Amino acid sequence: MRLTIRNFSAWILASLLILLGFVRRAKRKAMHGRFMLSVYFHKPSKREFEACVKWLKKNGFTFISTSDLENIIQHELELPKGAILLTVDDGWQTNEANIVEVVNKYHVPVTIFISSEPVEEGAYWWSYVTKAQQLPLQAPSKHALKQLQNEARLSIVRDLRAKITLPREAMTVEQVKRITASGYVTVGGHTHTHPILINCEDEVVYEELRISKQKLESWTGAKVNSFAYPNGNYGSREIKALQDLEYRLAFSSDPLYITREKLKDRYEIPRFGLLEGASMAENICRMVGVWQTVLHKLRLPSSRKPTEKDRQNQVQSGETPPLLSNVESPLVTPG
Ligand SMILES: [Zn+2]
Repeated sequence: MRLTIRNFSAWILASLLILLGFVRRAKRKAMHGRFMLSVYFHKPSKREFEACVKWLKKNGFTFISTSDLENIIQHELELPKGAILLTVDDGWQTNEANIVEVVNKYHVPVTIFISSEPVEEGAYWWSYVTKAQQLPLQAPSKHALKQLQNEARLSIVRDLRAKITLPREAMTVEQVKRITASGYVTVGGHTHTHPILINCEDEVVYEELRISKQKLESWTGAKVNSFAYPNGNYGSREIKALQDLEYRLAFSSDPLYITREKLKDRYEIPRFGLLEGASMAENICRMVGVWQTVLHKLRLPSSRKPTEKDRQNQVQSGETPPLLSNVESPLVTPG
């Protein structure tokens, strides 16, 4: 655990939740097949990721892959008991050592959703923003940029890129090829440049999904069937584009359990976000969905991000629910 006041207070809350039996009850429901769990990481340390895998194994969970999930949906199978799906977003360079080596060691499947442009160029757009703020150069916050129309965001990022050089942080093409050789890794799409899709023009959405699929398939030699929405933002237009491009599954960042009902929307599979640097107690609560559910009940900010539906509801209701308004809070899982 990275020692911060935030992590320490979250650790106390998580320990309390474990002590009060919240985790035990969620585990029991999962083991009865009431729901499945899916979680997402970004760039955990090896120790963090391995601790999660070991905890899940010790507690009797069954690891399923995205193709297992597709099979369950396709054939309307019973939900397997105690099933969990591990996913990772973005395609960070450290994923090979910290995640792929661990899944190979423990023989568990993982799906890594990769943005293809950072693989070619080296860095993610928001890292230029972070660096600019450290230098300091004039730059809006990451959060502010995520609200802008895509063209406006791109023009600011382009300016920053011209002034800043960053070391590589995304996987190389060679790494993408190498990790695919592990029978335990599935590569999924995460757009080409990692834009906020709902801020893009129609053609841009389509091209982002098409280019990344085509590049990933050419690097891996395997079909790219699954997708994760960058920052968890999507709407019906994005789902339609995914269908047209023959993606077969898509994952949101909505922190919900995968129930039979939820599987009816195969382009809106929910996931619980892990928080890197947080305590193991907190991440245990996160993996079994207790953290997000309890925070929601307490009306504290969790990792939930507003979707297009939420925004429509907000406009209709004219109010901003406290849970959804606080997307920059320290309890948030980054996108
Ligand atoms: Zn991402």
